[in-house]
Amino acid sequence: MLIVKKFGGSSVANAEKIFNVAKRLGKSYDEGNEIVVVLSAQGDTTDELIAKAKEINSKPSRREMDMLLSTGEQQSVALMSMALEKLGYPAISLNAYQVGMYTTSTYSNARLKNINTDRVQSELERKNIVLITGFQGMNRFDDITTLGRGGSDTTAVALAAALKADRCEIYTDVDGIYTADPRVVKNARKLSEVTYDEMLELASLGARVLHNRSVELAKKYHVELVVRSSLNYEEGTVVKEVCHMEKMLVSGVATDKDVSRISVIGVSDEPGRAFSLFGLLAKHKINVDIILQSVGRSGTKDITFTVARDHLEEALELLEANKERLTIKEIVHDENVAKVSVVGAGMVSNPGVAAKMFEALYDAHINIQMISTSEIKISVLIEEDKAETAMNAIHDKFQLGNVNLRR
Ligand code: ASP
Ligand code: MG
Repeated sequence: MLIVKKFGGSSVANAEKIFNVAKRLGKSYDEGNEIVVVLSAQGDTTDELIAKAKEINSKPSRREMDMLLSTGEQQSVALMSMALEKLGYPAISLNAYQVGMYTTSTYSNARLKNINTDRVQSELERKNIVLITGFQGMNRFDDITTLGRGGSDTTAVALAAALKADRCEIYTDVDGIYTADPRVVKNARKLSEVTYDEMLELASLGARVLHNRSVELAKKYHVELVVRSSLNYEEGTVVKEVCHMEKMLVSGVATDKDVSRISVIGVSDEPGRAFSLFGLLAKHKINVDIILQSVGRSGTKDITFTVARDHLEEALELLEANKERLTIKEIVHDENVAKVSVVGAGMVSNPGVAAKMFEALYDAHINIQMISTSEIKISVLIEEDKAETAMNAIHDKFQLGNVNLRR
């Protein structure tokens, strides 16, 4: 089998951990597999490099930032290669430039466009374990780019797609995808399978195990992903198109605290108001999530929506500056809110999921401020302080802690 294995920064944080991973790789190699390994920077290296940059220049150019940050991954692959050498395995480390991993030109948030597989293939033919830097690429100016924080997952999936690998294994410090964050919900349970769509929702909702883009790519190229622990040999969670083993109505509950709510009150009730309001925000690249508009009464209406917290200030300034043009009477906002969501591919064809979720919140005396739904997700906006209680209440209501709950 050709397997792409990705290890996160915590799995290679020090010499001991590097040797543990190296032994694991050796074992898989001895079993006859062809192995391509993608590594992240060790431990907190990326954060430390960012801090170092800030000591010198508080607004460094993105190009130089990428040049600096990409060194973290380069350290990891070289060290891993040395560990494998020491254990007697043939290995070679390569950076994005050596492989030929081309990205868009945007520094610090580039997207992989095209991967040249020649070098990797020939190293595999030479029976090498091939170690490749995660998180980085090169653009059309032959400059180093990076893929955004957490981007090594995406490198791994893209490589698996390009090499037509049999599978892509993401090793991390948790042993899979859970029905809820186990630090918040005590009886959270590890899922054996989850669909790409569910994973995308869970990832964007704050269950930050996988880089979102990596899941999008896996879905697009049908790469079967496995999320598992680097510390044990437990099976982990398989992310794929359709799940058969557990047809869960709901597969998980997630919370996103990076939200704030803005209401514009007394907007005149006529066509084009929502367009000018959200057009203005879009022009300034402010992403809006849940939107709620009240029924027009006595010629006016209210529009409430959420934005990420670090966009709040800018959004408020923009609205204030355009208050008259947008016919806004009053602007109110609240930062102490959280979005709690249930996700499940099974809810498309099953009524009552929303009612059940709302009942759980009612039982826990939690007020719902806003609601939004999609085919596989129901989200509510609630007071931030209540997020943990809400998660537990919903998790219990759907009995997500119980094994083998089938539809
Ligand atoms: N080292 C990078 C980061 O810390 C990329 C990664 O770990 O995936 O964000
Ligand atoms: Mg990560």
